[in-house]
Amino acid sequence: MLNVPSQSFPGPSSQQRVASGGRSKVPLKQGRSLMDWIRLTKSGKDLTGLKGRLIEVTEEELKKHNKKDDCWICIRGFVYNVSPYMEYHPGGEDELMRAAGSDGTDLFDQVHRWVNYESMLKECLVGRMAMKPALPKGMLPQSQVTDTLAKEDPSSPSYDWFQTDSLVTIVIYTKQKDINLDSVIVDHRDDSFRAETVTKDYSYLVHVALSHEIQEDFSVLVVENVGKIEIVLKKKENTSWKCLGHPQENHNSFIPKKDTGLFYRKCQLVSKEDVTHDTKLFCLMLPPSTHLQVPVGQHVYLKLPITGTEIVKPYTPVSDSLFSEFKEPVLPNNIYIYFLIKIYPAGFFTPELDQLQIGDYVSVSNPEGNFIISQLQELEDLFLLAAGTGFTPMVKVLNYALTNIPSLRKVKLMFFNKTEDDIIWRSQLEKLAFKDKRFEVEFVLSVPTSEWSGKQGYISPALLSEFLKRSSDTSKVLICLCGPTPFTEQGMKMLHDLNFSKDEIHSFTA
Ligand code: FAD
Ligand code: NAP
Repeated sequence: MLNVPSQSFPGPSSQQRVASGGRSKVPLKQGRSLMDWIRLTKSGKDLTGLKGRLIEVTEEELKKHNKKDDCWICIRGFVYNVSPYMEYHPGGEDELMRAAGSDGTDLFDQVHRWVNYESMLKECLVGRMAMKPALPKGMLPQSQVTDTLAKEDPSSPSYDWFQTDSLVTIVIYTKQKDINLDSVIVDHRDDSFRAETVTKDYSYLVHVALSHEIQEDFSVLVVENVGKIEIVLKKKENTSWKCLGHPQENHNSFIPKKDTGLFYRKCQLVSKEDVTHDTKLFCLMLPPSTHLQVPVGQHVYLKLPITGTEIVKPYTPVSDSLFSEFKEPVLPNNIYIYFLIKIYPAGFFTPELDQLQIGDYVSVSNPEGNFIISQLQELEDLFLLAAGTGFTPMVKVLNYALTNIPSLRKVKLMFFNKTEDDIIWRSQLEKLAFKDKRFEVEFVLSVPTSEWSGKQGYISPALLSEFLKRSSDTSKVLICLCGPTPFTEQGMKMLHDLNFSKDEIHSFTA
């Protein structure tokens, strides 16, 4: 529901989809693009039918608005009249109607909780849901529940702090063993100090306005075997602090990660290099007083204001090259995030991104994704099936596996592109294959020139069964897939038909 361009990207009638292989084309409705929607929202037209008034909506009232031409949906307590948006919804009207006259928060979160509906639908805001009658005795309102959970749930992390003359150390006891420097994200801006720890599917937040000023740089240490995180802050003045600070929103909360909003910080564009005719390597610099490492296989969301509306799209960070050896990054050097991004001339977001000048800012979210590094442990054969920019999650997986998995015998990448000119980092891949005998790469082109002597066509059972040879009958295997959604879905089905088990396949999706 609501602004789903990337999930089914390229759209069925996208310029990216050369109509070969009998795949169908569905024409885009004229005048119903995201840009058209934004124009409509800026036109001053009354999109709610309430002439700008905001109202309190009861559940009974919400239920009444369940038709296409009168459709209200509640997301996180706010009610929107989405009827004017119906024809602009990239996921289709039926998808939007699934939540008609009801609370669509769960549906929304399942599909794309990252979409900034607040900005996209601000002109459709009808009002808030009316507060429910007082809760029965003994129950607490939501804001207190999370805090109580954090204190009472024995599995919940907790925090403490102590100080010396010059330092303040915040200690987070995660009660989890499998944590590392990726597990905690720290942002200190003005007087807000925020440390979010992600353990399994939960997020634990320490969020305070510090009582005293601190210096820009701090260090983050992890004691893995006891699950302890230490954030060491340097005081600006050597005075004794009476308290750490004042609690801010959701301080000391321990809630499912899916229920947390995405937190963004502004990063500066420091360089932009051509990689192919349409793909560029962007380097963004994190702001000072930030600790953020994107785990292998995860993506972030980039956010830019486009004609006054904040637009968000997912991107997967890569390393600066295939040869930057994987090492545990140590602050303060770990401040750059690299992205390989294809610019679509008719796209909505990427042309704007491409317009940014060195020194301009773009907001970057906390990481998301369901790839778990332990999937690579004790692995013997790693197969990577990538199409186009679906190569991006493979970069860190490849680097990590070759550097950190001693059991690894071979890594094979099958890389699907239209033409030779579209192949990202081709010479690096070939050099890596030459340098490291465990690595092999095979390029498959769907629109090759007559000179191309390599493989051609699309992902197919024949290509896969020839390519996916285990190094022994019992070898531990992982197959990673990423590309346009239909590519990934077809690939998954073929792999199941070839008798690979669910545990042996990982597909990268939003
Ligand atoms: P869009 O506006 O989405 O348009 C792209 C093209 O499709 C254009 O040619 C446009 O004309 C056409 N089009 C759009 N909508 C339709 C439609 N409804 N019907 C027909 N045609 C249509 N991309 C990268 O380059 N690098 C990455 O690292 C990366 N990581 C990603 C990670 C994840 C988890 C996901 C889900 C996607 C990732 N992507 C990545 C893709 C990225 O999020 C965007 O989808 C992509 O950059 C296109 O955005 P855009 O707004 O510029 O183009
Ligand atoms: P592209 O150049 O359009 O396509 C790459 C190759 O895949 C081409 O050979 C193309 O063939 C082929 N292909 C496309 N659709 C196919 C299908 N249905 N079946 C079989 N082969 C197919 O790719 P792109 O523009 O770089 O797009 C990359 C995609 O990967 C985007 O959709 C992006 O959202 C996604 N992505 C996802 C993630 C993630 O983590 N989930 C990360 C990065 C990128 P033809 O075009 O010749 O038909």
